[in-house]
This record gives sequence, C-alpha cells and structure tokens, in this order.
Amino acid sequence: MDLKLVSEDSEVLREVADYWDWETDGDPSELVKAMSKLMVLHGGIGLAAPQCGISKRIFVMGNPEHLVACINPEMISGTERIREQEGCLSFPDLWMYVERYQDISVEYYNVAGEKVQQDYTGLMSRVFQHENDHLNAICFDDRVGKLTLERAKEKRKKLRAKRGV
Ligand SMILES: [Zn+2]
Repeated sequence: MDLKLVSEDSEVLREVADYWDWETDGDPSELVKAMSKLMVLHGGIGLAAPQCGISKRIFVMGNPEHLVACINPEMISGTERIREQEGCLSFPDLWMYVERYQDISVEYYNVAGEKVQQDYTGLMSRVFQHENDHLNAICFDDRVGKLTLERAKEKRKKLRAKRGV
C-alpha cells in the first residue's frame, strides 16, 4: 500500500471520519504500516488517516522506535490547558501556538482490535489531541484566532520566499 499526503485545502480534512469496523473494513495492519512509513518519511510525530485521503478513525503517533496506532480513539478526560507550538504534516512550514490539555485519559483500539486505556502527558498528549481532531474534521488552524493564523501564514510566506519556493 502506497499512501500520499493530501494538500491542506483537501475536502477530506474537513470531513468527520468513519469508525473502523474490523468486520467490514478488515485488518488495519497494512494501512497502519503504510501510515507509519509515510509519517516517518516526512519527519512527523503523528499522522491521521484523513491526511492520507482516507476518512477513517485511525492515527499513528510516536517515533520510529516507539510507534502507537490508535483506532477509534476517544478522549475520556483532560486537565490543565497549556499553549505550545505545533506544526502539521498537512500544513508544511506553518507553526502556531495552540491551547491543549496537558494531561489526558483516553481509550482506543489497537491493530488487533483490543481496547486500550491510556494516560498521556506533555508532547504525546498534545499529539493525541491534534490527531484526534483530524478525525473530527478539525485542523489546527481551527484552534487558533484569525489574527494568529494570518500572522503564521505571513511568516510562512516569508520563509518560503527566502527559500525560493
Ligand atoms: Zn495535523
């Protein structure tokens, strides 16, 4: 399976993704493998299926030594909101401060279809929330104010001009 990233104006990024059904959708292993490969190739630490044009509730996160696949994930609870800088593989060169929970409790299914309960803090908590948003048709540009977005796009323009892109 060969996957590609969709562009930032792609409609699939603004669609609520469907639940993965092991009975009708089959084994998600190949998809997860292909997504992990694509994420690592682009130097990301999280990638959701809609970012590859697949409107399913699956994302991968972590690094090549420790990759986690979260299928049909749910946020159970979150505490303490903090702002940190974020990027997104769907929006190359765009960096913005986004407010998220510091600590979260979540549930998801692994590739084998087993339910997993997990607490995340710090960076992995942030990645989980960012990727989970993708499954709900929310991109990080929806999480910031208009002015912040405009400034970030302005910065990107300058960065790209400097680079000659
Ligand atoms: Zn993203």
